[in-house]
Amino acid sequence: METIVKPSHDREQANLKDYEKVYASYGWLQAEACMTGLPGHHGLNMAYEAVDRHVQVFHQGDKVALRWCPQTGPVIDMTWQELMEQTARFANGLTALGLQQGDAVFALCPRQPEFYVAVLGSLKHRCLFSPLFVGFGPGPLHARMQSGHARVLVTTRALYQTKVKAIRTELPDLHYVVLIDADPGSVLDKGCISYREWMDASSPHYAIGPTSAEDAALIHFTSGTTGRPKGSLHVHEAIIAHHVSAQFALDLRAGDVFWCTADPGWATGIFYGILAPLSNGATVLVDGGEGDAERWYQLLETQKVNVWYTEPAAIRRLMQSGEEASQRYRYEDLRLIASGGEPLTAEAVRWGEKVFRKPIHDTWWQTETGSIMIANFRSTDIRPGSMGRPLPGIHAGVLKRQEGRLVPAAVDEEGELALRTPWPSLFRACIGREDSYRKSFVDGWYLTGDLVRRDADGYFWFEGRVDDVIKSSGHWIGPFEVESVLMEHPAVAEAAVIGKPDPMHYEVGHAFVTLKPNHMTHEDLRLEILDFARERLGPALAPRDLVIQSELPHTRSGKLMRRLLKAQVLGEPVGDMSPQGLGEVFV
Ligand code: ATP
Ligand code: MG
Repeated sequence: METIVKPSHDREQANLKDYEKVYASYGWLQAEACMTGLPGHHGLNMAYEAVDRHVQVFHQGDKVALRWCPQTGPVIDMTWQELMEQTARFANGLTALGLQQGDAVFALCPRQPEFYVAVLGSLKHRCLFSPLFVGFGPGPLHARMQSGHARVLVTTRALYQTKVKAIRTELPDLHYVVLIDADPGSVLDKGCISYREWMDASSPHYAIGPTSAEDAALIHFTSGTTGRPKGSLHVHEAIIAHHVSAQFALDLRAGDVFWCTADPGWATGIFYGILAPLSNGATVLVDGGEGDAERWYQLLETQKVNVWYTEPAAIRRLMQSGEEASQRYRYEDLRLIASGGEPLTAEAVRWGEKVFRKPIHDTWWQTETGSIMIANFRSTDIRPGSMGRPLPGIHAGVLKRQEGRLVPAAVDEEGELALRTPWPSLFRACIGREDSYRKSFVDGWYLTGDLVRRDADGYFWFEGRVDDVIKSSGHWIGPFEVESVLMEHPAVAEAAVIGKPDPMHYEVGHAFVTLKPNHMTHEDLRLEILDFARERLGPALAPRDLVIQSELPHTRSGKLMRRLLKAQVLGEPVGDMSPQGLGEVFV
């Protein structure tokens, strides 16, 4: 089996030096000890751990907490002191609007400092915060704000006019809209407020009220890859898991420049784009740009990024843009690259080694788990294509159903990935779907809905979603394995494989691929790719049929939506296919 052996300095200098030893003895009480807690033993508040304690306890108010690189114009830094004051103003502003603990604040903002202030200011005031992705159209925005009972929305004038104004009457709970770019004194609509005027009128001092570790903090909606997006509720103590998981899996430490490329509209963008790095005392790099490959390489060099957390879709984009741009820059400060959110192919891990002289470390988790559960670590050898091993504090199992009961799968045998409960960042509710929430917990396990196998050394290998697995002639085919092979063909940019009903075999694999630039769709090429897959996978696993398409459907967070391809093959309805609500069947 291919293994990337880590050099000795990686083992010696990593936060997690001896994985096996730490894993064997680690407990959440140790993690909790990394938190300061509110003054006067008033509990645990995410915003205090991420912001105020760096000024009041660690005395580093003059260090840079946020560095914003807009598409054009100068870089803007915000120190911890400034962030503490701005978030205090925001929290006082919420008091002025009559908001109380547990009331919901939503934000629909481009990546700019006001968004970060809104997240942390809401948490200070013990409101429930939920981010919205700017790519959503009015339908998905309405669905999320309605189910989360949004009281305040923070957004821009343009986003308000184009996406929110029309649905406002259908959101009776939404009393205020804070517009980050509205001039003081200007009134757009009833309940609309100028952010600047509102912030200026508020005091920069705010004492956070007593916060229980179990108090509700955030609602995050899942990506909607397999169906209707689910609203996951997370509590303040989740920050314990964000903090330590970033130390273990991302090797993050105080003073680092940390760049998480995920949009703050998603869980990764909040948990790892804000809370984990700030609580660890790292500087958060915020890219306000459009994100072309050249800009990304340039940012890594000029901003001296130490730890970079990205996702497979972004890596695929960089891989497709060719190596020339990457070679124009140097990455001397880069210590660790990690990826999460979707399967990372072995090819992508090796690409990292070629371009950055560093492998890419895969991390596995879900919105529901609230923090990274399985990862490849800086100090441990990597098996390209494997998600790695569970983090200290996380007990992961592989379970299969036998005569209606869940039993452990054998080594290398496929089963559902299950995690022993509880841990601090585990979701506490699924908004509006109590039944499905309850069903995901069985015998002390949380069932993830992902299919994996564990090898003899404890490395986990992702096979696919339980719902996406192809059942053919009495065996299961994990789409990821087939897709990885298809993507090794030199002409293939991206691949998706689904199960198509078949009278003989129950289901057969049906592949969809897109081509790299400079390759033309042609019957000979189609057959060549099918042969390529058959040769490497054998007839049982290889797809029976293959279609070359110009595009594959993705969620707004960039994930492949196999369910839409399946619906296409079966001639079923595919939901809202507009660019703003791709496949969303939110009712
Ligand atoms: P929905 O639950 O609405 O269908 P989603 O599952 O894509 O959407 P997220 O919570 O954003 O929503 O994603 C978590 C899922 O993403 C995991 O359950 C897994 O299927 C996939 N995933 C995340 N990280 C990895 C990884 N490193 N390797 C393979 N799959 C991953
Ligand atoms: Mg999911």
